[in-house]
This record gives sequence, structure tokens and C-alpha cells, in this order.
Amino acid sequence: MFFTEDHEYIRDLAREFAEKEIAPIANDIDKTEEIPQRLYDMMAEMGFFGLKIPEKYGGQGLDTRAYVCVMEEICKKSIACSLLFSSANSLSTAPMLLVGTEEQKMKYIPGIASGKDFMAFGLTEPGAGSDAASMTTRAVEDGDSYILNGRKCFITGAPFAKNAVIFAKTSPEKGVKGITSFIVDMSLPGVSVGKNEEKMGLHGVATSDILLEDVRVPKTEILGEVDKGFITAMKTLSIGRIGVSCQGIGVSQGAMDEAVKFIKERKQFGQRLSEFQGLRFMIADMEAKLNAARLLVYNAAYEMDMGKDVTKAASMAKYYATETALEIVNNALQMHGGYGYVKDYTIERLYRDARVLTIFEGTSQVQQMVIAGIVLGK
Ligand SMILES: Cc1cc2nc3c(=O)[nH]c(=O)nc-3n(C[C@H](O)[C@H](O)[C@H](O)COP(=O)(O)OP(=O)(O)OC[C@H]3O[C@@H](n4cnc5c(N)ncnc54)[C@H](O)[C@@H]3O)c2cc1C
Repeated sequence: MFFTEDHEYIRDLAREFAEKEIAPIANDIDKTEEIPQRLYDMMAEMGFFGLKIPEKYGGQGLDTRAYVCVMEEICKKSIACSLLFSSANSLSTAPMLLVGTEEQKMKYIPGIASGKDFMAFGLTEPGAGSDAASMTTRAVEDGDSYILNGRKCFITGAPFAKNAVIFAKTSPEKGVKGITSFIVDMSLPGVSVGKNEEKMGLHGVATSDILLEDVRVPKTEILGEVDKGFITAMKTLSIGRIGVSCQGIGVSQGAMDEAVKFIKERKQFGQRLSEFQGLRFMIADMEAKLNAARLLVYNAAYEMDMGKDVTKAASMAKYYATETALEIVNNALQMHGGYGYVKDYTIERLYRDARVLTIFEGTSQVQQMVIAGIVLGK
């Protein structure tokens, strides 16, 4: 219904890649907290970093549904591995594609699309998470530059990013209408990164603060119009939320697969666990919810490909697919009994990796606010 033969072909390629190259090392990546360069290079070779990016800027020029197919297949095996290229296809490049100048697009996007350069997305601050508009990072005009001061936190890929999109207040008195987005070269004087956060999951992709101390950013690096950055941030997050919703359905299927395999093998009370009606009902419930989540995700991607405003569709997909993922990984772990609680079993990693999905790129409560705001007209 949502996909063509071409999409299915891309899905098959991604599935084969995930099964052959990612699955055998996904638990090692979790333990060593390192994604091998070889895997990174292979993902670049497969064109994952530029899936949705126009060919003109070095990407594959595919649509959102192709991106969804790849994301879902990779996330069955590892959300961490998906993070690098999902960012390249959304948070890293969307602001430039939305409001960047042609010069900026040509300068930055090809490096991101090829997987060579990572562009971080710096919105969150210690005092401004869900309420991102209350940020205190300040940008003050000074001749042909702006001087940036502030601190961003929880920034994915900050330690290895070449550049970052940074949101800062240019007109603090205007509140949400006084925020501007800048492209900041991470090697500029005054830019530094904090310690790698010791995360519960998603090991292999570092997260840290970005500190900005009197960083002089040329006006040529302003993204879009001055004081219009918050709209860019919100539009970018709508695009990003489709990616997170794919992580939800991917990890849910991965957890289902682990649970099915386990309960078909293990015996208790002289029977396979899969023969107990209590567990069969749980499997049915998980399968139905996963498929409902899939439809919301596929629909959001389809609407985006049709050029529609996906604010509500993306929030509904993210909200439902990620909340469902938490329920599914939890039930899948429960079916493993004590084995689900030890690291020898993949479900233990999937459980930890999935936990962040209802938090980043807007918590579930923020998605509810967005959905209700649209339904109620305010
Ligand atoms: C691994 C990871 C990677 C991340 N990567 C990035 C990144 O690359 N770039 C970036 O900018 N940010 C990133 N983030 C930050 C992430 O987007 C924020 O953590 C998230 O938006 C929530 O903000 P907060 O942590 O400050 O929580 P808070 O906003 O303080 O929320 C705490 C709780 O209160 C609830 N809450 C808040 N306001 C309301 C309300 N009005 N009504 C009801 N409930 C409410 C929230 O839903 C949540 O449950 C990342 C976070 C993590 C954990």
C-alpha cells in the first residue's frame, strides 16, 4: 500500500546488510562502545548517509519511504548503528535544506551525505529541554560576525562532529521569535566538548555537551533569517521524529524476533513456553500493536513524500511507535525470564537501547502536546 517494488528492493538490501554485517557485532559494539571504522565505511559505501539527500548535494535522492525501509531494517539489529546516518538524513541536513543558502548547501551537505563529516544538532541546554525556547545561549552581533556564548547538552556525536547547527538567542526580549540558527565549525576558538555521557544504551555513539565561549561565527554561517531559527528547529524535529519512530518499530521487531526464538526453544512444565496461552496472548498483543505502529510510521513517511505538513502525523508516529517499543521490549525481556536480565542475551541490549526513544527529539509528553494542540486548535 505504501511501498513500491523499488522500496522493497532497498529494504531487502538493508535487511541483508543488517543481518550479515551488523547483527554479528552489535553486542560487541555495546560492550566496547565503539562502532568499527570498517562498518562505518560500509554504511557510507551503501549510500546510507545520503539516502534522502538530493543528488545535487551528493545524496541518493531517494524518498522518505526508502529511508524508512532502511532505518527499520537496521534498527532490528542496532539502533546505535542507525543513529549516525539517521542524523545525516535529518537533523544534520534538514536545517540547511529548509533554509540554507545554495552556497551553504554546496559547502556542507556533500561531506555529510558521503559519511565523511558529521554535523551535530545543538538545541537542548541544561535549563532548556522540552521548553527549548527558554534557551540562554546568546549570539551578539559584532561587525560581520556574531559572538556566541552558552552551553548545549546531550548533543549526539558532538565529540566527533566537524560542525554543528547551534540555536542561540539573538533577540532575547522576543522570546521564541528571537532565536537564530548558526553553522558552527567545531574547531573554532572557544568551542569545546564536555565528557562523554555514560549512557544506559546506544553505546558506540558519543553524546556530550558543547561549550561556546566567545565563539566568533561569521554572518555567512547564519542559517536562514535572523530571529527565525526556532521555526527551523521545529520543522527539523518533525522530520527527525519519523526517523525515531522507525527506530521504535525496528527495535520492536528485533525484540519480537528474540522473544519468538526463545519461547519456541525453552521448556518449562514439560512444554515449550510458546505453548502457554498466557505468552501466546502477549505475542498476539505485541504483534497487533507493532503493526498499528508501523501503519502510523509508514503513513507519516507517505504524507511527507506527498509534500504534506507532517507535524501531527510525525508526532503521532513517534509517540505511538516509541511507547509501543518500550512495551514490546519489556514483554520480550519478560518472556526470557532471568536470561533476559543478563548480557549474553541480545534482548538485554535492545531493552536499554530502546529506553531513550520516548525521550529524545521530543518526549512523549511533548508529542502529546503537539497532537492535542493541533486537534484542539491551540
Ligand atoms: C541519548 C540522547 C541524545 C540526545 N541528542 C540530542 C541532540 O543531538 N541534540 C539536542 O539538541 N538534544 C539531544 N538530546 C536531548 C533531548 O532531546 C532532551 O533530553 C529531551 O528533549 C528532553 O529534555 P530534558 O532532558 O531537558 O527533559 P525535561 O524537558 O526536563 O523533561 C523532564 C520530564 O518532564 C516532562 N515534561 C516537560 N515539560 C512538560 C509539560 N509541559 N507537560 C508535561 N510533561 C512535561 C517531560 O516529558 C519529561 O518526562 C538527546 C538526549 C539523549 C538522552
